Amino acid sequence: MPVKKSSAKSSKKPASGSKLKGTKYVYGWGNGRADGNGSMRNLLGGKGANLAEMARIGLPVPPGFTISTEVCTYYYANKRTYPTALKAQVAAAMASMEQVMGVKFGDASATPLLVAVRSGARDSMPGMMDTILNLGLNDQTVVALERATNNPRLAWDCYRRFIQMYGDVVMGVQKRPGEEHEPFETAISQLKHDRFKDGEVEDTRFSTQDLKELVARFKALVKERTGQEFPNDPWKQLEGAVGAVFNSWMNDRAIVYRRKYGIPAEWGTAVNVQAMVFGNTGNESGSGVAFTRDPATGEKVFYGEFLMNAQGEDVVAGVRTPQPVLELKQVMPDAYHELDRIRGVLEAHFHDMQDFEFTIQERKVFMLQTRNGKRTGVAAVRIACEMVKEKLIDWTTAVTRVPADQLDQVLAPIFDRSALKDAPVIATGLPAGPGAASGKIYFNAERAVESAAKGEKVLLVRMETSPEDLRGMIAAEGILTARGGVSSHAALVARQMGKVCVCGAAALHIDYNKMTLSAGGRTYKEGEYLSIDGTSGAVYAGQVKTAPSEIIQGLLHGDTAARNSTTYKNFMQIMTWCSKVTRLLVRTNADSPEQTSNAIAFGATGIGLCRTEHMFFEGNRIYAVREMIVAESYQERKNALNKLLPYQRDDFAGIFTALKGLPATIRLLDPPLHEFLPHDDVTIRETAEKIGVKAEMVSRRVAELHEFNPMLGFRGCRLGVSYPEISEMQCRAIFEAAAIVQKKGIKVRPEIMIPLVGFKKEFDLQAAIVHRVAGEVAKEKKTKFTYLVGTMIEVPRGAITAAEIAQTAQFFSFGTNDLTQTTLGMSRDDSGSFLPKYQEEEIVKKNPFASIDQAGVGELMKIAVKGGRSTNPDIKLGICGEHGGDPDSVKFCHRLGLTYVSCSPFRVPTARLAAAQAAIADAKVVKKK
Ligand code: ADP
Ligand code: MG
Ligand code: MG
Repeated sequence: MPVKKSSAKSSKKPASGSKLKGTKYVYGWGNGRADGNGSMRNLLGGKGANLAEMARIGLPVPPGFTISTEVCTYYYANKRTYPTALKAQVAAAMASMEQVMGVKFGDASATPLLVAVRSGARDSMPGMMDTILNLGLNDQTVVALERATNNPRLAWDCYRRFIQMYGDVVMGVQKRPGEEHEPFETAISQLKHDRFKDGEVEDTRFSTQDLKELVARFKALVKERTGQEFPNDPWKQLEGAVGAVFNSWMNDRAIVYRRKYGIPAEWGTAVNVQAMVFGNTGNESGSGVAFTRDPATGEKVFYGEFLMNAQGEDVVAGVRTPQPVLELKQVMPDAYHELDRIRGVLEAHFHDMQDFEFTIQERKVFMLQTRNGKRTGVAAVRIACEMVKEKLIDWTTAVTRVPADQLDQVLAPIFDRSALKDAPVIATGLPAGPGAASGKIYFNAERAVESAAKGEKVLLVRMETSPEDLRGMIAAEGILTARGGVSSHAALVARQMGKVCVCGAAALHIDYNKMTLSAGGRTYKEGEYLSIDGTSGAVYAGQVKTAPSEIIQGLLHGDTAARNSTTYKNFMQIMTWCSKVTRLLVRTNADSPEQTSNAIAFGATGIGLCRTEHMFFEGNRIYAVREMIVAESYQERKNALNKLLPYQRDDFAGIFTALKGLPATIRLLDPPLHEFLPHDDVTIRETAEKIGVKAEMVSRRVAELHEFNPMLGFRGCRLGVSYPEISEMQCRAIFEAAAIVQKKGIKVRPEIMIPLVGFKKEFDLQAAIVHRVAGEVAKEKKTKFTYLVGTMIEVPRGAITAAEIAQTAQFFSFGTNDLTQTTLGMSRDDSGSFLPKYQEEEIVKKNPFASIDQAGVGELMKIAVKGGRSTNPDIKLGICGEHGGDPDSVKFCHRLGLTYVSCSPFRVPTARLAAAQAAIADAKVVKKK
């Protein structure tokens, strides 16, 4: 007998019945039992599976049934029709619901059964049909309900709500182009005007008579807009509502959402039909939503809100202000204690924080939904740690519970939440460096530095930033730019320094000459206060209160009080667990002792990329660099290089000292030389004066060095090949520094990296210089060095010929920024003009400069890893692009079997977490096998 593909369904198939007729499409629950369970999300949707699960564990769930996602699939595969067996199964499920409730659907003589029709994909999905409540009411059953409950207000309130919801989502009575408000809302306001001369009064003020009037007006509205009568037959209503749920799977909003999150259309949605319970019978009833713990802080407190005498959406609709759930303790102690009990049951059963919906009908609590609650990064860390202590989960689960890309939220300074409430947002940009910062705005780096030196808090505001702004960026609390994306200079530097940064806030109009910024209808002068939130991208007027995160205070400033805080302890706990499982090491991109120490405090195991050129901009040394570039002869160049040598030596000595024996990958000079030259007349003249040459000469060199395509031009090892004396000076600085630091008893492990290698010969020429200088310095200083020489793999040719290069190279470090540029033939700095469209069209799923393009760049990496190992089995492998801090890329590197990833200091915890999660995922796969 052939095995059926869907095992879930065939195992549930009743023993009798033919194969087709016997397919189970409808899964009921109620009275403490259920056909389905929480593990059947794929078939029942998230909502349906958990309703079944809650029923199974004895929680008070109104009975109901789920029409499975297979019906949705069938519906679309068969021209929007249903399988023949469905009708009978639905009828049977309705009958069993009637039996549990002791009432009948469409009964006009006694209390009628009313139902909620609720959509339910695997995960809740915006764009899907809204829930329809009170289905089953019509002109007859409403009277029956009125009589049976002796509560006419309830009956008519439900009826008008039903017509509104059904009219809207099933019959399409919605806002027309040009209309300001939903037509049903307009009708409600109109009646309020007619009755109270005020369109804003609360709905609860309507009398039964008013509600009857509303029903009449709603029906007339439906007739006018659709030309159809509102359906009176409850079974017709049910059919219409179920069809509307399935149809909504293919509406535009749902399609757009699925595309964005990569959800396949084949998944389909389920439909849940559930007996109604009423939160609007009067002051003994109500509705609410709650979390088993605080989703913002993670604290184990009962968190949520409720409204008395309210149904469903009232709680979130914002018409009436709900009360905190803790107040229910006074309002209705029994219900509160029951909910609090359920809160415990849910966590004990689901082993995760739950977000749930409930209704209280005449003092009795009913559960309507539960799911794993969304939470902030801060809350995720706290909940994970506390659940381990409470023995709800084990520590490996805890590590997987914290989304790696949200971990930096716990490092970021924060705005005082109450202060934010009345702060006006004047613009929004890209959240490029998480955290909160507020300060006086300055439009140039120099003035920002001056002001900061006076002890003022400063925000550096620029159209966009460049290396010249570096000092200003360091001095500033935060960086705000009007142009540029998440990989712009500002964003890159902000990440490396852990600065708060909002970039590309296009609504800002910056006038450098007038020293003003206008936005949100106001002009701000230099020195006025603004505040930026680099976690959300918001720019606020004025000074909003902030505080540094306790983790930064504890780890980097050694603050004892901070170290005793819960946030700090929990964070450290997660990091300790990470170290226990991780295989992939995390290094850092750093080029100063301070960055290095910070990264080590965060758990970095060395430097993966030290960019020597950043050191060239500091202080007066830029003039020595320019002198070197302008030099016309070998000797002149040598003289200039000799001036640079002591600076570089000091820099390296500082870094080696900070490393305390950990390894450092140091890249020899890489960027095109023109980046160091001045480009405007004033600075050209100033430079000429400083280095004692004619201004014309500087201008000439600038012109000579101009390139049509600098990204593919005279840079990387091409510099060292042409001017070996540059590489020689850098190596000398490195080894002399190493000798000095070794003398102090600190181990030094330099790994010298040759950039942009595509040919083995390029590497060999440069490596020869490294080895020669190492030998010379060792002899001069009477010492020995332990060092490696390797290369960056950042052009496709380097990756393809890796086997050859690895014959002499001792390590590879994937420079994934350039490897992405050169593989895709796409300049990162110019990609802003077309990449957004590419993402929108899903030509690329993610920005390839933020997350490794695994199918393209990743394949080249695989080739290089395989090639490198084939000729050099011990080759050390790492990556040093911006991707090193991106969780998906980190996980990819783990799977590639690299030794380490390297990322900016403040991303180290994120990378460590991602690496640990990748290792845990591996272990799980192994276990399954
Ligand atoms: P969503 O997916 O948008 O949360 P739901 O299906 O959960 O939609 O329904 C929204 C609200 O409708 C619920 O929070 C609840 O207040 C109300 N509701 C849903 N089902 C019922 C029911 N059986 N009885 C009473 N109210 C219900
Ligand atoms: Mg819900
Ligand atoms: Mg490069």
